[in-house]
Amino acid sequence: MKHSDAAADGFAAAHVSQTRLSAAVVTTTAVTQELIDRHQLNQVAALALSRLASATALLHLLSGRIGTLSLQVISKGPLRQLFADIDHEGRMRGYCIGKAPPVIPQAGRITVAAAVGEGALSALRHPAPEGFSHSTTELITGEIDQDIEHFCRQSEQIPSFLLCDAVFDDAGVLMRAGGLLVQDLPDTRSDALEAVRDRCTPEAFLRTLRACDAPAPLLQALIPDSSAPTRQLPIAWHCRCSRERVLGALLTLGQAELQDMIDSREEPQIDCDFCQKHYQVTTAELLSLTAVN
Ligand SMILES: [Zn+2]
Repeated sequence: MKHSDAAADGFAAAHVSQTRLSAAVVTTTAVTQELIDRHQLNQVAALALSRLASATALLHLLSGRIGTLSLQVISKGPLRQLFADIDHEGRMRGYCIGKAPPVIPQAGRITVAAAVGEGALSALRHPAPEGFSHSTTELITGEIDQDIEHFCRQSEQIPSFLLCDAVFDDAGVLMRAGGLLVQDLPDTRSDALEAVRDRCTPEAFLRTLRACDAPAPLLQALIPDSSAPTRQLPIAWHCRCSRERVLGALLTLGQAELQDMIDSREEPQIDCDFCQKHYQVTTAELLSLTAVN
């Protein structure tokens, strides 16, 4: 069962008056539903992956960078690996490798820390100013959004406040998903940022998310002293996999390995982790890879 009345997913950013803060929200309800359907996620896995997807979208789109950002959590808990990525046009995708235990009913924000466990968060940016950037920080709580806020402060030196979550009805059907990111100038300590944190509790965020399904009204409701949106962008699930990319990945195996496959008539079968599309590579295609190189 799916919700069907929600607005399209999107991003909105604004300035916060009288401060140097930038604020942004994303709504990721349709993206989260796509992730649930494609990867058969239960509620805890959906929450963890949705928080990661919302945070990935917020970090990348608020930065205004061209290219893609990928965030990956590798951990010792049952979820094992979570991955989300987005390009600068708001096209995003993700996957979760492990299976989470069923949710324990609880009021307010649902914890995912036990399903995530100890681990590390990696961020990959492509292209970065220097070509390609990769940084890793340890998880501090396993709640995903708190870990990514920690990453912003530690790795990017940007004081940040990040809340990402999803709301489900009593039957476990997704109602809304989204996130809020408020950032100050790099290397500053901001009372204004801490005042936003004090005012916008996880419970207040969930209540507001439940009532708002479009980015601009959500931003206005969460941060009442924000300006009109300075930037808005639709967000949608999209997988960038293609036969060309699959062949490109095979090319990285090297000529000797490719020749071995040709000699043994092995025709590789590759499934996309994000959309599960199945690629069967033929010997003729393998020959074409050896011919051009
Ligand atoms: Zn794909």
